[in-house]
Amino acid sequence: MKQQKILKKKDFQSLLNLLAAEGYAVIGPQISDGAIVYQSLDHTSQLPIGFTDRQSPGSYTLEKSANEDAYFAWANGPQALKPLLFQSEELLWTASKDEANSIRFEQCLPVVKPIAVLGVRACDLAALELQDKHFLQKEFVDPYYQKRRESLLLIAVNCSHPSANCFCVSTGDGPSAQKHYDIVLTELDDVFLIASGSGKGEKICGLLSLTEATENNRQSAVEQEEAAIKVQTKRLPDIDVPVMLKNKTNHSRWDLIAEKCLACGNCTSVCPTCFCHTKKELHALDGKNSQHYRVWDSCFSLEHGYIHGGAVRSETSQQYRQWLTHKFSAWVEQYGRSGCVGCGRCISWCPVGIDVIEELSALSDEA
Ligand code: SF4
Ligand code: SF4
Repeated sequence: MKQQKILKKKDFQSLLNLLAAEGYAVIGPQISDGAIVYQSLDHTSQLPIGFTDRQSPGSYTLEKSANEDAYFAWANGPQALKPLLFQSEELLWTASKDEANSIRFEQCLPVVKPIAVLGVRACDLAALELQDKHFLQKEFVDPYYQKRRESLLLIAVNCSHPSANCFCVSTGDGPSAQKHYDIVLTELDDVFLIASGSGKGEKICGLLSLTEATENNRQSAVEQEEAAIKVQTKRLPDIDVPVMLKNKTNHSRWDLIAEKCLACGNCTSVCPTCFCHTKKELHALDGKNSQHYRVWDSCFSLEHGYIHGGAVRSETSQQYRQWLTHKFSAWVEQYGRSGCVGCGRCISWCPVGIDVIEELSALSDEA
């Protein structure tokens, strides 16, 4: 991390103005439909000032914060960076027949503008690293993801208010941003500590009116981080989870979970690291054109496990087992670490409150 400086809160709007002047479309957290989500942001007054969130299994509510002037006194809402890069539905290519009935294929790469995202949390930066590993593998770079990825400027905000469902400390991914940001902010009472993490971020910071941080500022940031760590009581079971899961393929717990699980796929939609997708074809009625789309898929859809004539995971118990064992076990072999960054979204946004930590603990009790 580069040297930390101070951006006074009264000058916060100058950061947004500068980003716009530098050609970025700015998006940032705002309250919409009872949740904090990323939307186009012109002014700091649009941020969730004075709000905090309360989360528990199957529940997410917003309420007034004890600090009515705080911009970022809340934990992540349902959105991660994922939809900005790996879109829920994206046109990949079209096919058309000419007069001679020859078929022509055309790749449809997205036209992207530079986007600055304000308010990115540490867990989502860790998830970004995982998505990069998947979509930008050397021989198999996904050009759609790559174009969107290159357009992003990421302004992280260190998390001071983890929710009761967060466990990023346990996965080693938070609560403070460690890498992959361009600029990082720590919100204190009247000021932000600000530091750059890339050349792009350094350029922006260099154009802002900043002052030197004091020892008191730095000490406040350390204390705030310690408090955010302390407040997280949810954690992964203290065992070798990948190995435990490999030995639990026939455990009776899978059937118990299936009695509750609706196989709705909410958990995979909100998970910042899930990358499974399927395809959709739209054919013109005259048979001359078709469009090929990539759309998000989920372990919980029947088609996801469909192989040459049959679904290999037709039961909800098998689908949930696939979700948990891939995320927390097979992912380690695939990408060198677990696919979970401890954001807690799958717990909050599961309509029946199924909690991955509770399930892992139940499965591991008999390990
Ligand atoms: S675990 Fe919850 S969110 Fe996931 S499919 Fe089952 S009911 Fe839906
Ligand atoms: S598995 Fe759940 S807690 Fe882990 S990264 Fe995905 S949504 Fe977040």
